[in-house]
Amino acid sequence: MELWYTEKQTPYLGITCLIQETLCHFKTPYQDLAVLDTRQFGRMLVLDGMVMTTEKDEFVYHEMLAHVAMQAHPCPQHVLVIGGGDGGVIREVIKYDTVETATLVEIDAAVVEAAKKYLPTIASGFSDPRVKVVIEDGIKYLQQARGQYDVILIDSTEPVGPAVGLFSAEFYHSVYRALKKDGLMVAQTESPFFNRDLIAGVNRHLQRIFPLTKLYLASIPTYPSGLWSFTAASKCYDPQACREKPVETKYYNFSVHHSSFSLPNFVRELVEQKP
Ligand code: SAM
Repeated sequence: MELWYTEKQTPYLGITCLIQETLCHFKTPYQDLAVLDTRQFGRMLVLDGMVMTTEKDEFVYHEMLAHVAMQAHPCPQHVLVIGGGDGGVIREVIKYDTVETATLVEIDAAVVEAAKKYLPTIASGFSDPRVKVVIEDGIKYLQQARGQYDVILIDSTEPVGPAVGLFSAEFYHSVYRALKKDGLMVAQTESPFFNRDLIAGVNRHLQRIFPLTKLYLASIPTYPSGLWSFTAASKCYDPQACREKPVETKYYNFSVHHSSFSLPNFVRELVEQKP
């Protein structure tokens, strides 16, 4: 008998994967957590029924969320990741020798533990001495932070439950305050096919707070619609400017960095500042 896992990405569309084994499945204080071994994508972390990351395509998302910012900033020393409990983004951040501290603020300790146990290739960065994991709400954590970080990466779940506030203007103001005077942030901002209002709203917020805001794209097969957006906001450096610092990657490279900011018309219209 075959067992299939289906994520309903919209009320009318889903992705379905053949399951070889359910490695764990339980309720944390924040969400329903499962790690499934799928035939197509290997091990898959699922939170509240939504695919978070898989062994086979995680490199696209984690590299594109981390390296655009880490290459746009000339010397990122202190980096903060909000969310990202699977460890994939932190693993990419610590590839840079300039990094002195990499702090991960994840609200749900169970995600970190499950990643360490079942997704060791994604969670490999947690053992680096520069990495500090703080189990706290990222919204609360940022309230007292002032001018501490060169780069802040927001690797949150979709805007549901504890992640809703991570897409608000108030939160982005706290990110601005937590960044140094030449700092920059990148947030994952969902699908240009299914989350158009969210992308437009986030860009409106960020355009009011930061002098430079740019959106870029990557293709991620297991995310809704397969096309994913990232919104970069910077106090000074152009996020599209790549300093070509050598780094080992599978998806990201210097020409992808630049070209990922070239937007198709149906996406460009979401972020063009309205006069
Ligand atoms: N790449 C995934 C995506 O695009 O949906 C996100 C992966 S990561 C597992 C998302 C993490 O954000 C989850 O572990 C979740 O617990 C965490 N999270 C959600 N709201 C949060 C908050 N307010 N503060 C800190 N972490 C939060």
